Amino acid sequence: MTDSSVFYRSRKSYPVAVRAEGVYVFDDRGQRYLDGSSGALVANIGHGRTAVADAMAAQARRLAFVHGSQFSSDVLEEYASRLAGFLKLPGFRFWAVSGGSEATESAIKLARQYHAERGDLERYRVVTRRPSYHGASLGALAASGMGARRELYTPLMNESAWPKLSKPNPELSGEADAERLRTLLEELGPQTVAAFMAEPVVGASDAALAPSPGYHARIAEICREYGVLFIADEVMSGMGRCGAPLAVQLHGPVTPDIVVLGKGLAAGYAPLAGLMASPTVHDTVMNGSGAFKHGFTYAGHPVSVAAGLSVLDTVQNENLVEAARERGTQLLAGLRTLRSRHPQVLEARGHGLLLGLILGDPATGEACAGPGLAERVALAARTRGLLTYPGTGAVDGTRGDHLLLGPPLSIRPAEIEELLAALDGALSDTG
Ligand code: PLP
Repeated sequence: MTDSSVFYRSRKSYPVAVRAEGVYVFDDRGQRYLDGSSGALVANIGHGRTAVADAMAAQARRLAFVHGSQFSSDVLEEYASRLAGFLKLPGFRFWAVSGGSEATESAIKLARQYHAERGDLERYRVVTRRPSYHGASLGALAASGMGARRELYTPLMNESAWPKLSKPNPELSGEADAERLRTLLEELGPQTVAAFMAEPVVGASDAALAPSPGYHARIAEICREYGVLFIADEVMSGMGRCGAPLAVQLHGPVTPDIVVLGKGLAAGYAPLAGLMASPTVHDTVMNGSGAFKHGFTYAGHPVSVAAGLSVLDTVQNENLVEAARERGTQLLAGLRTLRSRHPQVLEARGHGLLLGLILGDPATGEACAGPGLAERVALAARTRGLLTYPGTGAVDGTRGDHLLLGPPLSIRPAEIEELLAALDGALSDTG
């Protein structure tokens, strides 16, 4: 243990970051790290963008804070409308919060209130999937299908309120795969279910797992048929990361009832997350009791929203959604080459720049968890100056240990090659 006053996440030692620029982070010893995971898939436009910093400073000077119970703000008004346009969600309303867990909690509460406003008090369940990750606060954690993170809190998590559907199976057609939701709803009694929430491309819990085309369109149909709200948790997959503004739209137009956003929204320049609510959901609440019975003090903080607006300008002006598609194709091809060179890499997958490597036992070719396999590769990569996002698997139906890769969408082709070379080295070091 060091004599620091900081309460670190764990006992391991953390380098001290002092500055960042483009795709690189620098520590106090002068070591440079290529940010191969954008932190935790956050820094979508890269680091050190002075335009964003300037926009935040100007906003702080002009109007740093108002409380949502007293004011909207000009910057929030502009941002909400720009965001709905960018995401192709006409008429949707933006509810701002500070982080992804607050955003999924808000979505769950909004779904519950939507049904209550219609006099339907029986719908309390929120169906999610196993594995999944929707956040660390207790409601979001209860919704998450990640046993290891929930274990300590089990008595607080009344399982009957949070039924789990099994994960997408890309070997099935999207439609057949989605039909399993119908079966589960029938078993539960659909009149008890408020919402189905899922990550369109799975993030932290199962490294970039995506269903076959057609899945989300059929999920939306089934939800509509049973009066269940479809919540797309795009905290990680949204804002262009997967090569479309929203991952749920990757294979054609699909309109969820609520879309949850975070991470890439302000791309790490400020804490900003939120949800987009459909006109029906919004109007049902406003024409009913007249208020969403929920709120956080810092919701819609003008400085965070100014950061979000400047990030959105950058994403649009630099065509970063298209860049995510192109650089994602390059990175995925490189990862597949690594798979042929390193037997412990069992699979490389994902969309755009949300990509995952599944690691396993090179002797048996079986997916497995550890011991600390992904952690060891991540540590070796860090020693070589590359940051990745490791996850421990083979629990909750994941395939095995895995690494998420998701550099900034602004990464250049030569930097992708540098990333691949460092990863190649790290896999050799640990193979
Ligand atoms: N939802 C998804 C899909 C996520 O990946 C995460 C974080 O990784 C969250 C919600 C929680 O977001 P936050 O860590 O900002 O609270």
